[in-house]
Amino acid sequence: MVIQGFTHDVVVVGASVAGCAAAILFARSGLTVALVERDPDPAAYKRLCTHYIQSSALPVLERLGLDRAIEACGGVRNRLDLHTRWGWIREGEAAPGHPGHGYNLRRSRLDPLLRARAATTPGIELLAGHTATGLGREGGRVAWLSVRDRQGSERTLRGRLHVGADGRASPVARLAGIEARQTENARFFYYAAYRGLDPNGGRSRMWMGEAGISYTFPNEDGLTIAATTLPKALLPDFKADPEAALARTLAALPDGPNLTAAERVGPVMGFVDMPNQGRAAAVPGLALVGDAALSVDPVWGTGCAFALRSAEWLVAATADALLARGPVDRALRSYARRHRRTLAGHAWHIASYARGRRWWLPERIMFEAAALDPHHAGRLFAYASRNIGLTEFMAPTALARAAATVLRTRLAGRRRRLGPRIEAV
Ligand SMILES: Cc1cc2nc3c(=O)[nH]c(=O)nc-3n(C[C@H](O)[C@H](O)[C@H](O)COP(=O)(O)OP(=O)(O)OC[C@H]3O[C@@H](n4cnc5c(N)ncnc54)[C@H](O)[C@@H]3O)c2cc1C
Repeated sequence: MVIQGFTHDVVVVGASVAGCAAAILFARSGLTVALVERDPDPAAYKRLCTHYIQSSALPVLERLGLDRAIEACGGVRNRLDLHTRWGWIREGEAAPGHPGHGYNLRRSRLDPLLRARAATTPGIELLAGHTATGLGREGGRVAWLSVRDRQGSERTLRGRLHVGADGRASPVARLAGIEARQTENARFFYYAAYRGLDPNGGRSRMWMGEAGISYTFPNEDGLTIAATTLPKALLPDFKADPEAALARTLAALPDGPNLTAAERVGPVMGFVDMPNQGRAAAVPGLALVGDAALSVDPVWGTGCAFALRSAEWLVAATADALLARGPVDRALRSYARRHRRTLAGHAWHIASYARGRRWWLPERIMFEAAALDPHHAGRLFAYASRNIGLTEFMAPTALARAAATVLRTRLAGRRRRLGPRIEAV
């Protein structure tokens, strides 16, 4: 099928975190955008999410003006207390390379907020209740998408650029024949929201071990999300009574919360199989953002930040070429490179932990050093919040400095222990 002329500069499929952010930023650059969303309900939201938005997304949220809107909805500025077997590590205030906080806000608030912001942004045509069902190429490039409304009427949207922001399953990527690469996740995941849990001064808490990870995230309206991820061998036991098993697991942690003393709000949610998954972030005429490009183990709470940031990178790479009405595929390749360069190390590290392995020696050193010294704690949180990458975090000099901190402290401890004996001799 050949359709004459462009209907929009950019056609974005999916009006959730990644799609709304991309659409708003494209439109603010002066481009026209079709934003296609299969759900007709303006209040629709993603249900499977514990909505810890990492601080690495703060600059994008500020650009979108959403930081103030999130705070107006009661969004909690998130900072983390992290427990490992070396003790508690406390995330501090803003530091170089670390904006200091992200937000905890339920998706039932965040998603409608984003969609309303997109719907009122000049230049965006929001096609709610439209599903992308077809895709066509011309000259080797993705040249148009077809969408169907709920009455069954078809419409063809032809853009200079097409964007799949349609989530992990990404029908658009499937239509374009972009394959997903997957690696095993050896753990399952359960969570629920509670009212009446100790809010820990608004600070999120995470207990990290080799077997699994648990956390509590205080949210707006006095709610706290409690979650755990554990090896699949424990699943039959857990599934027999997920609510009791979740409570048991968290109560057994150092300073762990007592869920049975709080009121559960909403269902206990869980899923048993979520491989880590990635796709090429761009092919000629089409870019993927958010989960469509990369969807990793949710326990790290990276998905929303990766969605917001990848949307921003795409607009930064392509807006000028689109405004100049010139070719955009070179700009698309530059977006894909930035996506890979920034996120591949995180994705690799997350996927390797998801296999259920033991901690590696460098990881043990970094955790121990972080528990001993605020400098190392700062670097650990800069990495965990994805403000710095794996190669910077694990740089040989940083590792050597962390190892020196650990050794010095251990030797000092040993000397203290031996001291009285030496005196006695
Ligand atoms: C259990 C769990 C917990 C999580 N916890 C966290 C967390 O604490 N912090 C965090 O940052 N991330 C978390 N995530 C990940 C996070 O939810 C995702 O990374 C994030 O929602 C990705 O946003 P997105 O916009 O790319 O995709 P989605 O939010 O999945 O949105 C895709 C959109 O595309 C639309 N769509 C799909 N197909 C079509 C079509 N054919 N036509 C039109 N529209 C279509 C959908 O209706 C939807 O609106 C969690 C995920 C899970 C599963």
